[in-house]
Amino acid sequence: MLQVSERLAALSPSETLAMSQKSAELKEQGVDVINLSVGEPDFFTPDYIKEAGKKAIDDNFTFYAPVAGYLSLRKAIAGKLKTENGLDYTPDQIVCSNGAKQAVCNVLLSVIGPGDEVIVPAPYWVSYVEMVKLAGGKNVVVTAGIEQDFKITPAQLEAAVTPKTKALILCSPSNPTGSVYSREELKGLAEVVARHPDLIVISDEIYEHINYVGKHESIAQFDEIRGRVVIINGVSKAYAMTGWRLGWMAAPKWIAAACNKLQGQYTSSPSNIAQKAAEAAYLGPQDCIETMRRAFERRRDLMVSLAKEITGLKVNQPKGAFYLFPDCSAYIGKSFNGKKIENSADLAMYLLEEGHVASVGGLAFGAPSCIRFSYATSEDLLTEAMKRVKKALENLK
Ligand code: PMP
Ligand code: GLU
Repeated sequence: MLQVSERLAALSPSETLAMSQKSAELKEQGVDVINLSVGEPDFFTPDYIKEAGKKAIDDNFTFYAPVAGYLSLRKAIAGKLKTENGLDYTPDQIVCSNGAKQAVCNVLLSVIGPGDEVIVPAPYWVSYVEMVKLAGGKNVVVTAGIEQDFKITPAQLEAAVTPKTKALILCSPSNPTGSVYSREELKGLAEVVARHPDLIVISDEIYEHINYVGKHESIAQFDEIRGRVVIINGVSKAYAMTGWRLGWMAAPKWIAAACNKLQGQYTSSPSNIAQKAAEAAYLGPQDCIETMRRAFERRRDLMVSLAKEITGLKVNQPKGAFYLFPDCSAYIGKSFNGKKIENSADLAMYLLEEGHVASVGGLAFGAPSCIRFSYATSEDLLTEAMKRVKKALENLK
């Protein structure tokens, strides 16, 4: 019989990309949809970075590059890790990939096998659990609700570790909650990790620069676990470069070597043009980061205040990233024109179809009572979107 593999059949499609696609389809049909589903900066890539991409073509960077990326780029990333994060990495510990997404998947495919457990704090970014499944691993979901600002405690982590635990995936600043672990909180988690020598931490720091509480803190700063932390990062969010597809990991050498081997059989290096642009991003003027961060902060303040006007939503104060993840359970079970809202995915669909605002239901993030709005768009559009959301939610009976 012609059919996809069991591995593929078990995989769910990306809900963030699916909702964005659905919103684009409605737009094509002439519906005036405001898309708060997919999370990507609405800014253009800064000019000095674009110029470096164009120059890369003119300079004939058009041949295969080393699988892990050009040495010059890996040196620039090592320099960034030193100056911004105070962390020492050598270029052979860095592997560049087609986005941070591939970097996460590379690590999981390299270290996780059948039956291995991966601790995934929920709410989580949609792709983690699917990648764990792809690697044949078992997700051990540890839930942190809005009442604990969506952050797991050391005690929760300790309770989740078993002899089969291989990895913990941490994301701070977090997609989808916007929560940021403080240095003290990370230290508490690091102490637990230190007690379990077979445990690797995959620390997704892609939102490092979109932080409203000050300096970014990485769990890799704690020496006792440093050799077991894989930092995931990239240029998508900090430099508004989502379409360039350039992410990276900074890892212990054995994991970097494993990912290099995997990638060598699988995709080779990411695009040279993107690599050269990313190198320019890291070596060039950094003021674009702060300009965008400030804009996101203003939008965060606006979104929180608009969402708080909607009485049925329970809203936290995101400290980073560009998502609002309110609890919407007050609306689950309500109906519109005889159609019942059974869960947050139904609610997201209702908001799209009736309110013409695209969001993503919390189920795909492991938080069925929440809904995600990306606020990486203009203040005017956010104001209009939340007006529509308010009206649509009021129409639920
Ligand atoms: N991690 C998180 C938490 C994300 O939100 C994203 C955004 N898609 C990624 C990784 C991947 O980013 P990219 O592949 O664009 O570098
Ligand atoms: N990280 C973004 C999001 O969560 C981009 C889409 C994706 O890669 O899943 O919306």
